Amino acid sequence: MPSVAIIGRPNVGKSTLFNRLVGKRLALVDDRPGVTRDRREGDAELIGMPFRVIDTAGFEDEDPASLPGRMRVQTEAAVKECDVALFVIDARQGITPLDEEIARWLRALGKPIIVLANKCEGKGGESGLLEAYSLGFGEPLPFSAEHGEGLVGLFQALRPFVEGDALEEDTSSEDEDEEKSEEEIDLSPLQLAIVGRPNAGKSTLINRLIGVDRMITGPEAGITRDSIAIDWSWQGRPVRLIDTAGLRKKARVVDKMERLSVMDTFRTIDYAEVVVLLLDGTQGLEGQDLRIADRVLEEGRSLIIAINKWDMVENPSAFLQAIREGLNDGLAQVKGVPLITISALTGRGVDPLLKAAFETRKAWSRRVSTGQLNRWLTRAIAHHAPPAPGGKRIKLRYLTQIKTRPPTFVLFGTRVDQLPTSYERYLINSLRSDLDFGSVPIRLHFRSPE
Ligand code: GDP
Ligand code: GDP
Repeated sequence: MPSVAIIGRPNVGKSTLFNRLVGKRLALVDDRPGVTRDRREGDAELIGMPFRVIDTAGFEDEDPASLPGRMRVQTEAAVKECDVALFVIDARQGITPLDEEIARWLRALGKPIIVLANKCEGKGGESGLLEAYSLGFGEPLPFSAEHGEGLVGLFQALRPFVEGDALEEDTSSEDEDEEKSEEEIDLSPLQLAIVGRPNAGKSTLINRLIGVDRMITGPEAGITRDSIAIDWSWQGRPVRLIDTAGLRKKARVVDKMERLSVMDTFRTIDYAEVVVLLLDGTQGLEGQDLRIADRVLEEGRSLIIAINKWDMVENPSAFLQAIREGLNDGLAQVKGVPLITISALTGRGVDPLLKAAFETRKAWSRRVSTGQLNRWLTRAIAHHAPPAPGGKRIKLRYLTQIKTRPPTFVLFGTRVDQLPTSYERYLINSLRSDLDFGSVPIRLHFRSPE
């Protein structure tokens, strides 16, 4: 069984991560430094992928100024044993000298390292996430062990090592080396979620997509104990449907459906690459629809909106217009989310829906070269220069993409903290439209080199 070691200084969340992966409350989690723990091992499962996990938490009482001796011994043993190590940092605190020291000796051990920037829920972890690049192990993964965010990213990062087809590459080199090519992304299952208010037609659509029989007999307990993934294929391309409540209902796993449904929706979103928000064409757009859409974009997933029951809509063009306006008012971050009209009952529009889902994933996974980005930046500034608060112009110098899925960029310049939101929005919107990102959410961070 392939094994994964969890490494990191005290209190970054190693035990919490271990618990989440192993799923049993084996490890003790405590705020207080100094709680005694042993090295633990357990059988983990992540989105249906089994592996062994080794936790090294627990040597808090050592001198934190230099790498504690006992920690080193334990960690070294774990790293030597493992196939890949998760180097956990606390993104809220940023990179500390101890993190840097751990990084130095991890590098010397020569094992594949994935940097996990924990505590990234909300906004508090963004700069720590960026800082984690400086550790030199490529792209850090944003994660929240406590909230279960970032599991899909972790799954994707671990999979090559756990499933044995790891590229024999030095992971401490450029992160571009580790990234999947477009072909590989095309071949990996599309992680699709279908969400929406009760009665929008989710079950009907799912049945239409995968077939009734498959659905009742097929569910494998995939992602966690609470949710289900179903693999099937569309026009020869693999699709993994991720769902919690809707499928559970059909799989007759009785649950407190209504009370759980919002949490279920949010969890489902977290596992998906592309989220289809299903609207009921016999009803209008409602606040709850916007809240779900907003959450999808907040979480950085690609969003498609499908209006279902189109066979029942009486005045299609006026209805479509109303929905579009409602979306433009309600979803300021992203204009022009694809709107697809379907009938789950008759199957009309279902193929275009899947086609759009594959396309939007492609854009969401795309990487643009730094050269191309900086040519774009020069043009964008020439077209509309940044303002000069207090007579001093804000200078934007250098743009680079640090991450895909969703596309994430860092723009370096001087006095970037004074950039008005309207200008940020100008940059994001033109980046999206000039570089063909469609409607996928884009993250843009600003940094001053000093
Ligand atoms: P360890 O010493 O590295 O094993 O860290 P623990 O797992 O014991 O976690 C240390 C503290 O961080 C605990 O208070 C956890 O509740 C907290 N923690 C763990 N993961 C997260 C997270 O994702 N977000 C936040 N905000 N806190 C977390
Ligand atoms: P869920 O609660 O979102 O899973 O919704 P269901 O799939 O159970 O559908 C709710 C109701 O809408 C059922 O009576 C379906 O037959 C109906 N329905 C679903 N899709 C369509 C459609 O495309 N056209 C029409 N006319 N009815 C639909």
